[in-house]
Amino acid sequence: MFLKLLLNFIKHLFGIKPHKQLHNLYKSEQVLFTFDDGPSPETLNILAILKKYNIKAVFFVIGKECIKYTDILHQIVKNNHILGNHSYSHPYHKLNQSEASKEIIKTDKIINNITHTTNNLYRLPGGKTNTGLYSYLIKQNAIIMDWTIDSLDYIHQDTNYIVDNVMSELTKQKNQKIVLFHDGCAHKNYSRKNTTEALEIIINKCKLLDIPLNTF
Ligand SMILES: [Zn+2]
Repeated sequence: MFLKLLLNFIKHLFGIKPHKQLHNLYKSEQVLFTFDDGPSPETLNILAILKKYNIKAVFFVIGKECIKYTDILHQIVKNNHILGNHSYSHPYHKLNQSEASKEIIKTDKIINNITHTTNNLYRLPGGKTNTGLYSYLIKQNAIIMDWTIDSLDYIHQDTNYIVDNVMSELTKQKNQKIVLFHDGCAHKNYSRKNTTEALEIIINKCKLLDIPLNTF
């Protein structure tokens, strides 16, 4: 109730709609795996694991990486996963509304030109709401998907750490289990092998513990 009043107050104050976050729409008890900052060559290994276990995921892709890896972007769609727009260049600095619109529209066009699919699903780089992308997207009535469980795979390139961190969160949360992983690197050049390894271990642990996964 308090949250609703607060959101209405913010709406009144700034003349904007409250943030429409998909994690509020995703009420399922099933775990939803999401992958940011790709596509990259590692995406193919992640796709193979998802296929092996019949799991459906969401990939938030970066426009400039889509141009480099068009075939891999195709593979994501061909495997019936969901694509989301994660901006063109993954900016962390402040953008004006014209720059913000270019980041979003350019990536929408790239995704559409390569895959012939459109979406209205977005994730903010770093989840940051102060870069100008957030204010642009809410004006477009876009769906912005956050996460509820951060694997921290961008900080720890350590398979066991990622597994333990995600499993500890998954066993605590009852619903809205949206897990953030990375299949690419926006600003550094890390391997994502640990994410891939951790993913398969996490899937098997979930199966043993009867934690339902988002399947096809
Ligand atoms: Zn990102």
